[in-house]
Amino acid sequence: MTSSIINSARTIILYDDVTSGNLVLSEIKKYLSELIPGIRVELRSGFIEHFGVREKIPEFARKLARIKLRDQKRKLEDFNPLPGEIQFEKKLLDDPKTRRIGVIYDGFEFQKLSREMIPENELEMSVLHIFITNRLIATFDDNDRRYHARVIITGYPAVISTSGIVEAPAKPRDFYRMKQMGIILGDTTVPAELLNQHFQGRFMEHNDERLTEVIKGYILQAVFYHTTGEAFCNNTNCRLFNSHWQKEMIKAQIESGKLCKDHTGILNELIMSFEGDPGRHTFNPSP
Ligand SMILES: [Zn+2]
Repeated sequence: MTSSIINSARTIILYDDVTSGNLVLSEIKKYLSELIPGIRVELRSGFIEHFGVREKIPEFARKLARIKLRDQKRKLEDFNPLPGEIQFEKKLLDDPKTRRIGVIYDGFEFQKLSREMIPENELEMSVLHIFITNRLIATFDDNDRRYHARVIITGYPAVISTSGIVEAPAKPRDFYRMKQMGIILGDTTVPAELLNQHFQGRFMEHNDERLTEVIKGYILQAVFYHTTGEAFCNNTNCRLFNSHWQKEMIKAQIESGKLCKDHTGILNELIMSFEGDPGRHTFNPSP
């Protein structure tokens, strides 16, 4: 049998989305440690806080302003952001606990910027960095020529968006119909609350108490991509299912909450690859 494993990270570093009260990284650490014996999980605060790059904030703000999407129907082009746009990013970086809804960034460019933040001595294939952020990220689809919001950008580092969990997978069709109806009737303020009540539990909301559970599955997608080069699975009950609907995401991550047989097998292969290999920890050991 040929092995599916191309990389085996012994250390996973999770960076917290500090805006989200319902994201409990210690629970995720416990989950990963039990699921993948031999793996080392390190928890860090948001990556700006962790790397302490305060003096780099003006430069980082300018870079972020450059990858903000202005038009979701046009691929990002190089341009010089306005001073106000840079200032906006600077404010967000100065106070990372602020949440701004409505700003979307090019996901691959955001991943590139995140990678630049990691010091060279920590860029190792045996260490997988996973940035969890509340920023909304999107990727351009050449088929329908527009950007689509994403929960995850796999790769190095992996980026997972907590806002993406709410915004990317589509809500029930009736939700959009009823919302449209509210707009037609000229009522744009009341329906949001009523709609959420009507569809209670059928889609994720900001600061949803199920957030930690859902994020676990996306972290596994990042781990599988790093390990095998493939993040997704066709089985709707597998945590690696690439959900396009909220309903599918809730089914895979909450109702099932498990990996399918095939992916459990690959995970066992990974665990076995650790045996006899003590792992190499070259920096910042966990307390
Ligand atoms: Zn699977």
